[in-house]
Amino acid sequence: MAKIIPLFSGSKGNSYFIGCGSKGILIDAGRSAKQLCEALSHYNINPDCLEAILITHEHIDHIKGLRVFASNCHVPVYMSYGTSEQLALDGHLKGVYTEYLRKDNDVYSSFNTESFNIQPFKTSHDTPESTCYRITDKSGRITALATDLGYISDTVKENLLGSDAVILESNHDVGMLRNGPYPYLLKRRILSDTGHLSNDDCSEILPQLVKGGTTRFLLAHLSRENNYPDLAYHCAAAKLQEHGMICDKDYMLSIAPEDYNGTIIYM
Ligand SMILES: [Zn+2]
Ligand SMILES: [Zn+2]
Repeated sequence: MAKIIPLFSGSKGNSYFIGCGSKGILIDAGRSAKQLCEALSHYNINPDCLEAILITHEHIDHIKGLRVFASNCHVPVYMSYGTSEQLALDGHLKGVYTEYLRKDNDVYSSFNTESFNIQPFKTSHDTPESTCYRITDKSGRITALATDLGYISDTVKENLLGSDAVILESNHDVGMLRNGPYPYLLKRRILSDTGHLSNDDCSEILPQLVKGGTTRFLLAHLSRENNYPDLAYHCAAAKLQEHGMICDKDYMLSIAPEDYNGTIIYM
């Protein structure tokens, strides 16, 4: 059986486990190695089962535990060359077995681990080369993740469409952000095309994804200051309802918790 487990999500750190049978993949390693091991062990997952760690970009909430965790469990870590350059500068890749994502005519090539096929795709964020991933497991189940993106580009949309499960950023409520305590420049950054995806922008694409066959959504990377889990949930459910799509009948909707809390999405 395939499953998705959100271990950590949000600005304090991000990490998601995608499992198929006894094997798995980790996307991002944004908490300390100790916390990552504790989270995996909570679900009886041995880090030895990991075939790869996929890194989306170099922001600390995505790589905090990477060096220690990856060098201890000898898992290959995949990332774009642009991301690796930034991480290497800060010494985050010492002792880490790093594989660079390959590109052909500016399009990332897919690659295989033993149990998964992985298609990286480009996202728009305030980093030189952020990417997200579409993962197909051996049984043919497809999970796509898109977090830390200012908007949903055609490339992102193409990679989300047709996935069985989508992990999508629902970072902030625009009203809360505009009226909240963040400094002007930070607000402008988050709202920009290279910032983070709002609840509204996230919700907008969901009906199209359901029509394309997606049945499971995990809303992720919620802002603690500018969002509430209930608000993100209701924004998404309301948009789907407008299109006559019913929760737990046409789709399942979950929120990725800041810290693992037992949430598992089975496929
Ligand atoms: Zn982030
Ligand atoms: Zn980021």
